Amino acid sequence: MSTPARRSHRFACFFGIVILLCLVVVFLQSSVSMKTSLAYDEDWFAQKREEMVDLLELYGIRNPEVLEAMRRVPRHRFVPAAYVNDAYGDHPLPIGYGQTISQPYIVALMTELLEVNAESRVLEIGTGSGYQAAILAEIVAEVYTIEIIPELAERSTKLLEELGYTNIHTMCADGYFGWESEAPFDAIIVTAAATHVPNPLIQQLKDGGRMVIPVGPPGAIQTLWRITKHGEAISKENYGPVRFVPLTRR
Ligand code: SAH
Repeated sequence: MSTPARRSHRFACFFGIVILLCLVVVFLQSSVSMKTSLAYDEDWFAQKREEMVDLLELYGIRNPEVLEAMRRVPRHRFVPAAYVNDAYGDHPLPIGYGQTISQPYIVALMTELLEVNAESRVLEIGTGSGYQAAILAEIVAEVYTIEIIPELAERSTKLLEELGYTNIHTMCADGYFGWESEAPFDAIIVTAAATHVPNPLIQQLKDGGRMVIPVGPPGAIQTLWRITKHGEAISKENYGPVRFVPLTRR
């Protein structure tokens, strides 16, 4: 015969097991719904990326490798969490420390102007979020990229590693002086506005190499130039007004 004390003990055990089962069901359900919403987000981002590339084509970007790279790189991974839903809009976004990730059209245009291919070795000044470096890495053999702000250098290096890029080499330094030990480069891209074209960068460009660089006053409108090296001489082509954060010095 069971005493009232035993009965209430059994009831408590039964009740405990029921609560435990309920918790397990709730946990399983929430992890399944988390997975579905993540999958949904990735599809949504892929669709936004397609729309972004359609717009780039409409704006005149023609190089199929550039368009394919813009289609592949998950731009939403390079912007702060607060802006992910806006990652594929054609405008720059803040990335912290007063810096910005450039608008997709400018990234595509500058990449196209570099005229690079699968054999190229490219130097970038101003890693920032790492997005431009990732776009280049999809097309060229090796990317060397320099960032002056340690926190941004660390963050982008980690992200590029996480995304599996093995052909991007990062360094935290003043990019004005380039990357002498890895020079000469087939192409150089400067993604911050310089008051003049840094001479060390011209020196580190191969004969026939291209440099794409915004030049002009900081905090105002600059001009986007493509500079081509011909032996000791250079030629310059003007690609119109742009607005970049300044190239700072250490
Ligand atoms: N290419 C970046 C955006 C660049 S924003 C991207 O795809 O996200 C410009 C970056 O240049 C900023 O991160 C800024 O800190 C960096 N920068 C400014 N002056 C620099 C210098 N002298 N050397 C290296 N990086 C510099």
